Amino acid sequence: MAGIFVLVHGARAQAPAKNFPTVQTKAIKPATKPASISGRPKLVVVIVVDQMRADYIEKFRGQWTSGLKRLVEQGAWFKEAAYPYAATETCVGHATISTGSVPATHGIVANAWWDRDSQKMTTCTADPQAKNAGYAGTKVKDGDTAWRLRVPAFADELRFQMGAATRVVTFSLKARAAIMLAGHKADAVTWVDNGGLVTSNVYGTMPFIEEFAKAHPIKQDYGKTWTLSLPRGKYLYDEKATGAVAPSSWDLTFPHPLRGKGAGNDPDDDFYGQWATSPFADTYLTKLTEVAVDQLGLGKGGGIDFLGVSYSSPDYVGHSFGPRSWEIQDTYVRLDKDLGELLTHLDTKVGTGNYLVALSADHGVVPVPEDMQQTGADAGVLHVPEVQRKIEETLAKFSYTAPTVARIASSDIYFSLSIYEKLKNDPVAMSAAIEAIRSVPGVAEVYRAEDLTDRPATKSPIRAAEAASYFAARSGDLLIVPKPYWLVSSGPAGKARDYGTGHGTPYYYDQRVPILLMGWGIQPGEYFGEVTPADIAPTLAALCGITLSTHDGRVLSEALARKAASAKSATNP
Ligand SMILES: [Zn+2]
Repeated sequence: MAGIFVLVHGARAQAPAKNFPTVQTKAIKPATKPASISGRPKLVVVIVVDQMRADYIEKFRGQWTSGLKRLVEQGAWFKEAAYPYAATETCVGHATISTGSVPATHGIVANAWWDRDSQKMTTCTADPQAKNAGYAGTKVKDGDTAWRLRVPAFADELRFQMGAATRVVTFSLKARAAIMLAGHKADAVTWVDNGGLVTSNVYGTMPFIEEFAKAHPIKQDYGKTWTLSLPRGKYLYDEKATGAVAPSSWDLTFPHPLRGKGAGNDPDDDFYGQWATSPFADTYLTKLTEVAVDQLGLGKGGGIDFLGVSYSSPDYVGHSFGPRSWEIQDTYVRLDKDLGELLTHLDTKVGTGNYLVALSADHGVVPVPEDMQQTGADAGVLHVPEVQRKIEETLAKFSYTAPTVARIASSDIYFSLSIYEKLKNDPVAMSAAIEAIRSVPGVAEVYRAEDLTDRPATKSPIRAAEAASYFAARSGDLLIVPKPYWLVSSGPAGKARDYGTGHGTPYYYDQRVPILLMGWGIQPGEYFGEVTPADIAPTLAALCGITLSTHDGRVLSEALARKAASAKSATNP
């Protein structure tokens, strides 16, 4: 959601510090004896594109020539995949892909939520017991792990159940993406913070990543310029996206120079913001991933290895410029090339057909409201401070003392201690408060927590989606559903936004994402059944011969190549 994005946006765009903590390195596990497991993939690769709408494939595939094109044409393409829940945010989507369950089960309800015990906001990965570690002297703060994830990830189960060496490695710009993809334990979980590569002591550090971080500091991209990679006539829509908000010192049209504020010669905060909002960051992650494949010999050990990569830049580009921008189209043109290179690398190092790839996204995105308004549609911005003001104003009439609201995080309203219990026994005040919230522009519906606890019995698709996101200890007391095409903003009315658009609602533009499976055991083709990203982990588990504990997802059996798999195991004793 937009407010959370801004919070993290600020946190990531800082220059590296001068005083370096010592990085503890651990030895790389030697690759164990050659495969003794027949009829199974040697490597499972999960690629998540942060903020990729399902319709980008239909709209933009004519611009692609490499990796994305290959996945669409040679893989199993699920065209009607959508999240079944309302909380379409990054941490939630990654947790769903990695566990095969929905937030009501895995417990990750948002990127950040109000913690009722400490009466503070907490991020989905914040772990007071853990301590992060920076590579090549990168300054770190806090500790991040998957301890709030209530079920094991697929990768956790793979390590536990295989009985042979399984290496688990994940990369992203975002801690929540790298961590949720990997799960509770892993060999290397790496993200970007303060201008460098970072991990947590729970996962430990790797010497090859330290070497990579020293040899390829992000600041090497300082001074590069992001230009259009295709002739101008190849892009859809207008060059200048209506309502877009360019990040840190950039214009709304190409070229986009990576020079920060442009004043001096040192990479500044603006440079790191620009870098993360550019395809150069995707290329950087791809190179690091290829080095990991080589250095760890992924796919060459005795077990099934797991490699997860989450590309974050499409999300930053989408938040700024929106889903119809030339910037988002060019980001995918370049990601297509990066993915092509990564797949070719895997063909060479692991062997074509020996690895299994799943590509999906953590959420989609809503069009920029000002852009959507041009169609005549009811679109706009729902200002959260306005909701809070209305609640306080209304409850004051019933002799409640302000502040009654502790926090509104995304679209979850958390009341101060005991206020919600009091309201439940005060039906007149409760309905007055709910009516007041409904009067705020952009609010479609308000659900009470107790409306959402009976998940299977619920009928309305929106209510079902809200219920699938609901986790009692962490979700709000009242849940706001915005109207379609309304952007929920944590900023006050009458003040310019510092981003163009966002996501986090129970509507199809946020819920629909691609699912593409390719490689070992997969029957290529186009599939039209309604599926969800929670089906990815059960499908991977079936192909790897392991069992997951949860039931929310199902095996995408329609896309499994039964004959090919059995023929392979017969010739591979
Ligand atoms: Zn986002």
